[in-house]
Amino acid sequence: MFYYGAAYYPEHRTEKEWLKDIDLMEKAGVNSLRIAEFAWKRLEPSEGKYDFSWLEKFIDLAWKKKITSLVCPPMRTAPAWLVEKHPDVLIVNENGVTLEYGSRYTFCINNPNLFKRGLALAEMMAKKFDSHPGVCGWHLDNEYADEPDCHCDICRRKWQNWLKKNYDGIEALNKKWGTVFWGIEFDSFSQVPTPKFSKTFHNPGLTQAWRRFVSDCNVELVGLHAKAVRQHSKNKHVTTNFQTWNPRTDYFSQQKNLDICGTNYYPPYGTENFSYSLGLTNCRSYKKRPFQVHELRNGPHLVPGKPNNTPAPGEIEKLAVHAIANGADGLYYFAWRGVPYGIEQSHGTLIRHDGNPGKTYEECAKVGNRLKKIGKMIEGLAVPAEVGIFNDFQSWWMMDKKCPEWTGPNGMFRDLLDKIHFAIRKNGYQCDTLDRKSNFNEYKVLVAPFLTAFDDSLSKKILDFIEHGGTFIAHPLFGMKNTDSEIYPARLEPLIAKVLGLKLGEYATSGANESINFSWEEKIYKSSLFYEFPELPRNSEIHAKFAEGRFKGLPAAIEIKHGKGKFIFLTCFPEDKFYEIFFEQTLKKYNVNKILEGKIPEGVEISERRAKNTRLLFCINHSNTYKNVPLPGHFYDIWNDEKLKDKIPLKPYQARIVILSNHLSK
Ligand SMILES: [Zn+2]
Repeated sequence: MFYYGAAYYPEHRTEKEWLKDIDLMEKAGVNSLRIAEFAWKRLEPSEGKYDFSWLEKFIDLAWKKKITSLVCPPMRTAPAWLVEKHPDVLIVNENGVTLEYGSRYTFCINNPNLFKRGLALAEMMAKKFDSHPGVCGWHLDNEYADEPDCHCDICRRKWQNWLKKNYDGIEALNKKWGTVFWGIEFDSFSQVPTPKFSKTFHNPGLTQAWRRFVSDCNVELVGLHAKAVRQHSKNKHVTTNFQTWNPRTDYFSQQKNLDICGTNYYPPYGTENFSYSLGLTNCRSYKKRPFQVHELRNGPHLVPGKPNNTPAPGEIEKLAVHAIANGADGLYYFAWRGVPYGIEQSHGTLIRHDGNPGKTYEECAKVGNRLKKIGKMIEGLAVPAEVGIFNDFQSWWMMDKKCPEWTGPNGMFRDLLDKIHFAIRKNGYQCDTLDRKSNFNEYKVLVAPFLTAFDDSLSKKILDFIEHGGTFIAHPLFGMKNTDSEIYPARLEPLIAKVLGLKLGEYATSGANESINFSWEEKIYKSSLFYEFPELPRNSEIHAKFAEGRFKGLPAAIEIKHGKGKFIFLTCFPEDKFYEIFFEQTLKKYNVNKILEGKIPEGVEISERRAKNTRLLFCINHSNTYKNVPLPGHFYDIWNDEKLKDKIPLKPYQARIVILSNHLSK
């Protein structure tokens, strides 16, 4: 089923209000609600004493109208009785301060008392509701990993044991991290600190290992939570909502615990720039399968002065189709109805605080009733992509501002990923993101904005990909360090350097707003931040050259032949404008299939979903002006129930889903 609905909080409302809400939901084509993620105290009022009666009553009432419940066993918003009994469940932050109870996500995710009670609750909920036909699946807690790192004694011991398992003795750890620097060599694992607040940076090997440890802890807890539910519920899907911009968990590892990936999605209104769709690309790419949006933006937030906050007519509908175009097979708005108290009273909702529907509801109802008719046809269709962009967590952690080495300007890792993703999407190509564990051979072109942290197996995989005909595009800092954050003597992983014959030499840096021009295809572009001046390897040609100053004439882009493929090395970080033209030409040159031939109008997004016998073309106008996408022939738009001829006309913020078979490129 194509799930469509919202987050709902039965615990906030009276039974009479439930009935009115459920009535409006039915009219809006809602068939699923995400419920209970903050209701631990109502579900287990005191330790071991459960009360599911109110939840059951609500699930029954919703199911009478064929509205299913995606039930969320809570984990990180525990009741006060748990804190009173076990004060050590609270996080000790990097300054050594114990977080106070009363907000959310203040719990140490390694605390056995939290595990014990949280997992017991999940088991009880699964046991109680598995047989209920109105329960469609399980959504584990909410926004896992959205909490500060914990440095409590339990975490410190777990960290030291994790190190013991991952390093072959303390001497090996000292050597790999180079603890001789600043004289911090350890005699035993019990001396190794967590990276709490100190005078200045911790050892980069330590911070890199700490990020892996924190990610592993998150993966472990979600795995335990999923297992607790699955013990009593074998046939219902298990999911949760990722924050794709949050680097605290390697989601390429986390996805293995889930049947379906999920995410929150709150893009700004009133902008033609749809670069925010990177969040959807990421969520789809973790499993390389359709996913669910568990929190989708709807109306404006009640916040004076908040920019890009109010949807124009059509924007809510457009946003829903945009999420589906990028692989969503389920949409849940946040939230159904204005929250009467607490910290999120100002959040945009479908229904006002007084329980009455407004403009937002009308548009959502249009989407819901349309999905009732065509949801089945869309569900399960893949989003094919022949280009992959690295979103490698180990490299992201290395570029993190908390890491003392190669911090760069804040957010540099994400900014470049975003820029490259958008340049490719604007050109009408679809692309995935991937990490070192992904199957490289599914792509024709791989792009590495930052792929810094290397190991032998990664080098071999990359070389194998190129040798068999792939095109690999790299930037400065590529392959510079090993996964313990130790810099390679030649600043490049030795196997890559040897096989490609690439020898890095001098380098230079500049500020983000300082630039050095380079020429490419007889046009001048700006570049900034970092510049490599490699020796020109055999089998290589220069594609771009620096055009000024003491760098004039040195290569700004080189192409090295290897096997049947190419390694393209951009030796600087070019401006946005360059990437659009670069990818337009490069992807064409290396035979990447475009979704639709021809120039795509500015502000229009094109996507495709397909299966063997179905190909759907999504055209989405993100602008407030009329657009036309030329397309010779007769077509049918299943979203608007309309026949089209020779073009796809788009009103401001209009979205269309067109059935096509012959006019898409192969
Ligand atoms: Zn802890």
